[in-house]
Amino acid sequence: MLSLLGRSALQFHPSFFISSALAVATAGCARYSSTTDSEWTPTRQYVSKYREEIARRRATDPEYREKLLNCSRRTRQKYRPTINAKNRVYMAQNRDKIRASVAAQKAVRDFEKLYYAPLRARRASDDHYRQSEALRNWVLKRSWVRDLTWQTHKPILSEKTLRYCSGCAVHRPLKFWWQDKKTDEFLCHPCFTSDWSRALPIGYEDKVFGRRQPTGCKQSKSTKTTGTGPGPDA
Ligand SMILES: [Zn+2]
Repeated sequence: MLSLLGRSALQFHPSFFISSALAVATAGCARYSSTTDSEWTPTRQYVSKYREEIARRRATDPEYREKLLNCSRRTRQKYRPTINAKNRVYMAQNRDKIRASVAAQKAVRDFEKLYYAPLRARRASDDHYRQSEALRNWVLKRSWVRDLTWQTHKPILSEKTLRYCSGCAVHRPLKFWWQDKKTDEFLCHPCFTSDWSRALPIGYEDKVFGRRQPTGCKQSKSTKTTGTGPGPDA
């Protein structure tokens, strides 16, 4: 009981926090406390009994812990000049490589910030965009979907081809186009889906992406694919 009181008092003493902070700064970890030998249990599986014994002593024996810390401090002090010198030589010899690596990391961060973050925000707030992108994935990933019939257009998937989009009135190099069945003109996917009344294939006009179909619906939908193709959610 007294030892418990002593320990809890120690935990709130300012010097304890200072010494803890110093220990953390030097050891780089904060998981050691005033655990007694009988309280200590392994927090993970160690590769050997020897390793477990070291962990136990480290957690429960302050003197042993201090000895290990001093040992690693001495090692660091001993090798630090050599390591620093080697680092300087490496940096001098690989200046361009390091700069390129830093620039590449920055490019990844910028791309995430400029490209993926706005896309995520749009996906979260714009239901039409979410449906349009889901339709694109459905058509691109399911070959049987491309065999379905649309009222006005048909999907064209090929190698990247420069074509004129009559919707946005520019040439675009795209793999995926929608071709007008009457005029043979092409539309890019966003232009085609800007009019959602024509966007879904015949027989799937009520489809809402991302919404589970009622159980009874699955049977009736699968009959639309003449029983051979997968259902709309496949
Ligand atoms: Zn367009």
